[in-house]
Amino acid sequence: MTASTTASRETLGFQTEVKQLLHLMIHSLYSNREIFLRELVSNASDACDKLRFEALHNDALYENASDLNIRVSFNKEARTLTIADSGIGMSRDEVIANLGTIAKSGTREFFTKLSGDQQKDAHLIGQFGVGFYSAFIVADKVSVLTRRAGEKADQGVRWESDGGGEFSIEMVDRAVRGTEITLHLREGQDDLLAGYKLREIIKKYSNHIVQPILMQKEEWKDGKYETLDEDETVNQASALWARSKNEITEEQYKEFYKHVGHDFDDPLAWTHARVEGKQEYTQLLYIPGRAPFDMYDRQARHGIKLYVRRVFIMDDAEQLMPQYMRFVRGVVDSADLPLNVSREILQESKDIEAIRKGCTGKVLGLLADLAENDKEKYAKFWGEFGQVLKEGVGEDFANKDKIAALMRFATTKADTVEQIVSLKEYIARMKDGQEKIYYVTADSFNAAKNSPHLEVFRKKGIEVLLLSDRVDEWVVSNLHEFEGKQLVSVAKGGLDLGALEDAAEKQEQEKQANEFKGLTDKIKISLADKVKEVRVTHRLTDSPACLVADKHDMSGNLARLMKAAGQKAPTSQPILEINPSHPVVQRLKNEEKRFDDWAAVLFDQALLAEGGQLDDPAGFVKRVNQLMLEMGK
Ligand code: ADP
Repeated sequence: MTASTTASRETLGFQTEVKQLLHLMIHSLYSNREIFLRELVSNASDACDKLRFEALHNDALYENASDLNIRVSFNKEARTLTIADSGIGMSRDEVIANLGTIAKSGTREFFTKLSGDQQKDAHLIGQFGVGFYSAFIVADKVSVLTRRAGEKADQGVRWESDGGGEFSIEMVDRAVRGTEITLHLREGQDDLLAGYKLREIIKKYSNHIVQPILMQKEEWKDGKYETLDEDETVNQASALWARSKNEITEEQYKEFYKHVGHDFDDPLAWTHARVEGKQEYTQLLYIPGRAPFDMYDRQARHGIKLYVRRVFIMDDAEQLMPQYMRFVRGVVDSADLPLNVSREILQESKDIEAIRKGCTGKVLGLLADLAENDKEKYAKFWGEFGQVLKEGVGEDFANKDKIAALMRFATTKADTVEQIVSLKEYIARMKDGQEKIYYVTADSFNAAKNSPHLEVFRKKGIEVLLLSDRVDEWVVSNLHEFEGKQLVSVAKGGLDLGALEDAAEKQEQEKQANEFKGLTDKIKISLADKVKEVRVTHRLTDSPACLVADKHDMSGNLARLMKAAGQKAPTSQPILEINPSHPVVQRLKNEEKRFDDWAAVLFDQALLAEGGQLDDPAGFVKRVNQLMLEMGK
């Protein structure tokens, strides 16, 4: 270390989250320690891609050495491993930002989810992405030497840390551009100081990396390896997606996914195709095995890596996938787009629109295939991404029917919180004379399942979809029918079961409506400012009353969801329906003294039963207690 660099040396603290991550990494990923090399090589490869792309506009960045490669070497005496690349490199500020903090959105929320159970957390950490810090699984000291391409030699930076709470940083001279990461191995990691071992790991995890990964050649001589003064390429070093399918093994597809998807786990499924025609491109699209922790964060990185004729153009090209497929990861390599394409151009490009259409169709095809031929995998997909896919019925008009066919629901017949019933299945087992698809929405599965609105449907054995995901209100407001069958809420409008009711039942209903006319009118006067209408219903068998929304009004559930989200919901009054067979309702016919209290309690309990909140809970409690006392007398 020279005197001048000593003067610039600074020690800085890691962001709290980095400290947590380091601690976890070291303790929970140990059994998977080899992945550190995959992560560092993956970063090196991204750095080379970035340089190649930036150099399209500025050739000088190559500094007269346009070779892009990654070099892995080791030093047995010093017990170090070094991964070097001739990529874009980093400036001092970039080093501090990239290796001292985690800039991912949702990081803080992620860390609050950690349980302290190392095995569980190891999986979470995989979702989060391990990256550079995985070096500390095998190293107790890591030094990074880097210089950004195009900068002067005195703009080199050295970063060093022992994985505790701090790192040091100083400016140094560095003749070559790019990054060199040296790992000082922990005790017990010496098996990594062997060429054959490193080659094995590289072949296993990084064979698909586009740039050559170079190592010093070795020769077996006199019972040991001797290193030669010559480099060799260890990996296949060609774009995986450009090879033909039958040349790619399942393992290679999976390893490539981990690189492009920044994922620790295997993908669930993938589709790989070369598309010819007006637009020529190759697509390799993956469905992850698990939802990333930030799937609902609209700011989160998502999307596809875009290449043009094998040249990396950009990460997270969200224009290549619709929002509701933001979980898809992979690569699109276009043969037609110009190399200087920017995000702004992408937004308006007709070519991109055509590619997005093609990719969307491919993914929907893949999902339909899974749903048909691999039910177990499809169930897993639905559990992870179903809620996101559902957004598509409102977002992608052209594919609405296909998306609807892919949806799975909880229903009164399946009687489990698991969403397993398709609309096709529902229709296939509709009752004789049933013409509509019935659903109920609520803010939890239990509230939906126990909704009083279902009573007559249960009695008649008519299946009802139980919708309790937040997105479901959006689904039903966009999906009005499926295969010619209307979707109808059981809690909206008058109940018309059509041919599911016989003439005798209809007659009885009419009779009761007349018989209770006096009572419904009286309740309406009593609850004048709360309800739009009061009427007799045949919806209920066990409950005395329920609330329904008028045909074109917003459902109570949706109004509550909007309120909870801080939005203004239109205030439309519900209709109170009463059950003429219920003893409480019958008793009310002859009630004089406390009529208003009875009516108020009837209304409040109907509101509670559908998951609503009382306007005056204390008033409700007081009335109920009053009535209880009087009953006892
Ligand atoms: P991720 O790769 O998921 O962003 P990492 O922790 O692996 O997370 O890396 C953080 C950032 O550090 C990268 O996004 C990149 O900007 C930078 N970086 C890491 N390794 C290199 C490298 N070899 N060359 C240039 N930049 C790098």
